[in-house]
Amino acid sequence: MTRLCFLKGLREIGGTFAIVETDHASCMFDFGFANSALMDARILNRPERAAECYVRMGFLAAADGIYDRKTAERLGLKPFGETDRSCFFLLSHMHIDHMGGLGLLAPEIPVYMSEDSRRLYRRLAANGEAEFFEHENCIGLPYGEPVRVADITVTAIPVDHDVVGACGFLISTPDGSIAYTGDYRFHGFHPEITEAFARAVKGASVMITEGVSVSFEELDMLSLKEPEPKRSEENLQEEIKTLSEELHGLLVINPYNRNVERLHRLALTCAEAGRVLVLDARCRDYLRTFYPEDPACVYENALADAFLQPGDKYRQYDGRETVPSEGGGQPDGAAGDCIRDIPAGEIVTREELTGNPGHYVLQNDYSLIGELMDLREVISLYVHMDGTPLGDYDPSFGKLQNFMNTLGIPYRHMSLGGHSDPWHLRHMIDTAEPKTLIPLHSFRPEQVNSLHIRNRLLPEPGVWYELSPEGII
Ligand SMILES: [Zn+2]
Ligand SMILES: [Zn+2]
Repeated sequence: MTRLCFLKGLREIGGTFAIVETDHASCMFDFGFANSALMDARILNRPERAAECYVRMGFLAAADGIYDRKTAERLGLKPFGETDRSCFFLLSHMHIDHMGGLGLLAPEIPVYMSEDSRRLYRRLAANGEAEFFEHENCIGLPYGEPVRVADITVTAIPVDHDVVGACGFLISTPDGSIAYTGDYRFHGFHPEITEAFARAVKGASVMITEGVSVSFEELDMLSLKEPEPKRSEENLQEEIKTLSEELHGLLVINPYNRNVERLHRLALTCAEAGRVLVLDARCRDYLRTFYPEDPACVYENALADAFLQPGDKYRQYDGRETVPSEGGGQPDGAAGDCIRDIPAGEIVTREELTGNPGHYVLQNDYSLIGELMDLREVISLYVHMDGTPLGDYDPSFGKLQNFMNTLGIPYRHMSLGGHSDPWHLRHMIDTAEPKTLIPLHSFRPEQVNSLHIRNRLLPEPGVWYELSPEGII
């Protein structure tokens, strides 16, 4: 018998946690936090108790077979390796709401993800952005190549989302197949990839889809008409090119550093517009990991050390007595220690920016915003483009606005987001025609609907549902 259970992330955005259990295996996905489920940054971490603490707070799932012995014993759960079935994870992409808990799992548990996600994850860990610890047993899957674990076969199929390596999965069991979409969109650089996902999983017994974009207002998905195209990744590049050409001063941008393809395109767009893109050391590392030939300079006050805070215990708590900026992780991803080995010719000074501001586009991470105080007189515009803090729900967002207002820095919001609009959500389901639809990762999953399904299930947390080739009946 194969059955499904959902423990978290059903009526919220983030923290999706589902279990597909066959006679011999227990396949779980994903393992992140909802934004609301983060500890207050003012509370000092207790890294060695973090997994326990996050489970007690309800931020992570209380499940057997996934935590180390000490943690499991404190929580009254079975530790990894002591359950009847082979436990393993699938991670759809490297957003915190899908992967934030990865470093809190038992170190030996196998975690499958796309090969691109694994490359990014190793660099995130090296840069102190992996949340707590670096999980060791990560297995990168080439797209489209099935892998078998006990009696389950899993295939990673790419989708377009605003992070490199995003994929969904087709999970084949002895009693039917499950398509898990992860997060996806149709307005990125590669809508055809998302389209191909929908076709690849056509007719699955169950489709589990995200429903972020129907969260915020009442709508009837079945009566929607195809919307006019909204801003796309390509449009954003054109807008940045125009701004680069028209403005005379420094253009400051705040993109999301895990959206590596956008960084790549920005490097080229800036060059076309006669400007040099200047990044912080982390951003440059992610860019060079995937695009080693790209032109990319680093700002002298955004080198690796700029991100380390004195007394930052948790970043240094990795048992290796090294700080993350010294490389850390496994030697895959970028060649060598490209966080620190930056040629002098690729470092741009403050004097160079202030002396010739129209020659540069500066990427600025929110944590280094103080630097803009010294550059404010030469800044023509600050463009917020999906970097953090992302929106109103984050208290830092208001502080960012306040900073710009107080210093008189012109500000523009040009965000794009990573989620399909409601019509395209329906298009995904209409194309895939699953037998049973399970919408989640949404404040209003009941609004996700399609005429091309046999039935729809809004699961209750903790309830087991039996899978058949005809869906969940
Ligand atoms: Zn998400
Ligand atoms: Zn996402």
